[in-house]
Amino acid sequence: MSSLDKVISWIDATREQSIEKMARLIRQPSVSSTGEGVEECAGILVEMLTEVGLDAKVMPTKGLPAVYAERIVPGTPTVIFYGHYDVQPVGDLDLWETPPFEPDIRNGRMYGRGTGDNKGQLLTHIIAVDAFIKNCGELPCSVKFLLDGEEESGSINLAPFVEENKELLKADVCYFADGPIHYTGRPQVLFGCRGIIDVEIVLEENIRDCHSGHYGALIPNPAWRMVHLLKTMKDEDGKVLVEGFYDKVRPMTPAEEEVIKAIPFDVEGYFQGVRFPGTGPQWDPVEALKAHMFQPTMTIAGLASGHTGEGMATIVPAKAVCKIDMRLVADQDPEEIFELIEKHVAKHLPEAKVLRHGKMYPSRTELELPISKAIIGAVESAWGVKPIVVPSSGASCPEYVFTDILDIPTISVPYANPDENNHAPNENFDLDLFIQGIRTTAHVMDTIAKHKDW
Ligand SMILES: [Zn+2]
Repeated sequence: MSSLDKVISWIDATREQSIEKMARLIRQPSVSSTGEGVEECAGILVEMLTEVGLDAKVMPTKGLPAVYAERIVPGTPTVIFYGHYDVQPVGDLDLWETPPFEPDIRNGRMYGRGTGDNKGQLLTHIIAVDAFIKNCGELPCSVKFLLDGEEESGSINLAPFVEENKELLKADVCYFADGPIHYTGRPQVLFGCRGIIDVEIVLEENIRDCHSGHYGALIPNPAWRMVHLLKTMKDEDGKVLVEGFYDKVRPMTPAEEEVIKAIPFDVEGYFQGVRFPGTGPQWDPVEALKAHMFQPTMTIAGLASGHTGEGMATIVPAKAVCKIDMRLVADQDPEEIFELIEKHVAKHLPEAKVLRHGKMYPSRTELELPISKAIIGAVESAWGVKPIVVPSSGASCPEYVFTDILDIPTISVPYANPDENNHAPNENFDLDLFIQGIRTTAHVMDTIAKHKDW
């Protein structure tokens, strides 16, 4: 029996203990938006990591703490596991079938806040480590853990933390599990995500709303002026007109273009439940995926001015506000994009103020790297089925701290069920997939240990 086989049998044999470990983490609230239970949860993780044989500690950041752990096996490559132990607020308690912090098992799933996103998923790596040490006496490769306590609040302190601890966090590859498997039931391997910059344009022109008959002809109307400004920012085909916006967009590689064609994408199903039939363009699946992964967006998230309530109000509004978020792709820099927006607004509507809210950099790891191919292979051997290779997620996460600050390939393989209800009531994690996640991490560690071509 190979060491990996021994490890896999042990993972299957200790299923109940693993499930109990997940329940222990779920019982401890850790809501970063309020801070509830976060420090306590960090403490439990340090205990769990120490129990399996790692050097673990809570590390302060400028906000909520991070958890760090390591076990170095001299002469072996190092994988750093990223995960986040904070959770979303629970929302409306009436919508939960069982209380969010009292883990409940039904239909082969564990229900509770943080099961899928992300405590259950990060736990798979801890259990895989345990499996190797218990069955082989030592790990096949060196491991580090960086567990974020603020991901659900935008990970605002993660980049400075990683910057300050570059030496400590040094690794050959970063691996993490977050989000769901593909809706077809196949695993997916992701190589990046989009970045984001969130801005607000505020135009205050009049001291108060004014009578449109007495003032309409003579004073400026901030609503119209905002509309005119917005028209200079994006055309009707969706192209952003802000000068320099697309300058740094990294072109698709032939390998990326190739894998996109192999991604199953049910266009009808995607739009169902969100779009009225017949509205908007009819997308070709491949073009849709390209837009989703490789094109930046500029989205009006909110637009407000004057009277939008019931009945009429004949006024010239005092002010207009527009909130815009832009999803960015490699190698766009949110700071630079913000400056371009500022410059654009200064030119077209100098009276408007541009405020900045959240930002995150995009991240992308090359599919063609030997380690990328090796991890795709590891996932295939764990599942017995070819994984779907996804060059980039359309959403944003703090992956760039690994690809850009630590300068290492970063690959994620989501383990949760597609209906995990993350960020929603009745969040859950399918227990078979949870165990399959542990097996997958074990395969990945085994592959990393044997990989030579770094
Ligand atoms: Zn989340």
